[in-house]
Amino acid sequence: MNDNCHPYPILLAEDDLISRQLCKKILAREGFAVTTVANGREALELFRQRFFPIVLTDWQMPEMEGPELCRAIREENPDRYVFIVMLTSKDSKENIISGLEAGADDYIAKPAHPAELVARIRTGIRILELERSLKAAVEEIHQMSVTDPLTGIYNRGYINKRLPQEIRRAHRYGRDLTLVLCDIDHFKRVNDTYGHLAGDAVLKSFARCLAGSIRQQVDWVGRYGGEEFLIVLPETHLEGALVLTERIRRTLESTPIETSGKTTGITSSFGVACFSPGTRKAVITPEALLQEADNLLYRAKSGGRNRVEAGQLIC
Ligand code: GH3
Ligand code: MG
Ligand code: MG
Ligand code: MG
Repeated sequence: MNDNCHPYPILLAEDDLISRQLCKKILAREGFAVTTVANGREALELFRQRFFPIVLTDWQMPEMEGPELCRAIREENPDRYVFIVMLTSKDSKENIISGLEAGADDYIAKPAHPAELVARIRTGIRILELERSLKAAVEEIHQMSVTDPLTGIYNRGYINKRLPQEIRRAHRYGRDLTLVLCDIDHFKRVNDTYGHLAGDAVLKSFARCLAGSIRQQVDWVGRYGGEEFLIVLPETHLEGALVLTERIRRTLESTPIETSGKTTGITSSFGVACFSPGTRKAVITPEALLQEADNLLYRAKSGGRNRVEAGQLIC
């Protein structure tokens, strides 16, 4: 296996050639990818270019000793765990304690006993695997906490957290920020006519259409409430937002939706509120901007639905 694709490549820092070759041989025999260097400084330089989840380091080396290397690796890598084993001929209690305090996870006396060395590296891998699965679980929980389970787009909690950040950015860089609040027309009728499950399918398809219409990485869309959705368009002026919203309105109007074997159609109304940081530099709140979008949406509803109403707030 190539060094770069082994899941747990090992960096071995040892100035003594015999010991270095011996350790490398023991580990390579077990299928590990081992990269060797002759002192702590070389180890740190290489580590800065390429991450190693496991470091096996001698204690006494020229230029930079093992404990100093441990401390540097810990300081520079607070987010990814590195399992560090100290190779030492110094096995007095004080030395072992100071090695562990410098950040080593474990130590092994030289000359390394082959089975012991392999067993200690495997212990490290168990810890690294635990870290991986914990990180994956944390990421999954985070995704769930910001996602609307029905439609898969962002939820209201995410909107509440992210919108103030977008407004701060718009203020800071003097850029427009446009919100588009969308509300499906007569959605209650869909539920009443085709059933709640069909209503759910319409909501999913609606969210997909919105998410597919915006610029990836820049714009984003969230479910604001039951059948209300919010599109956030950073660095977008009113005219640009209107072109996009009209396009979405027409797409929705002309796209039939299949629900439990039946075909239905929906329309939506839109309130487009553009915030432009002006010369007064007054601070706008997310609530005020959302309120403006909501007022415009209300106007679109009372004006006959399947319409876009837009307005600009200059502060
Ligand atoms: P309008 O054109 O004025 O917006 O009329 P409307 O019928 O869309 O609005 P109304 O507020 O009267 O009804 C919204 C409906 O949306 C009522 C509610 O049961 C339904 N709804 C909200 N969340 C969900 C959901 O998750 N699934 C389904 N199937 N329906 C939902
Ligand atoms: Mg040495
Ligand atoms: Mg509504
Ligand atoms: Mg509605």
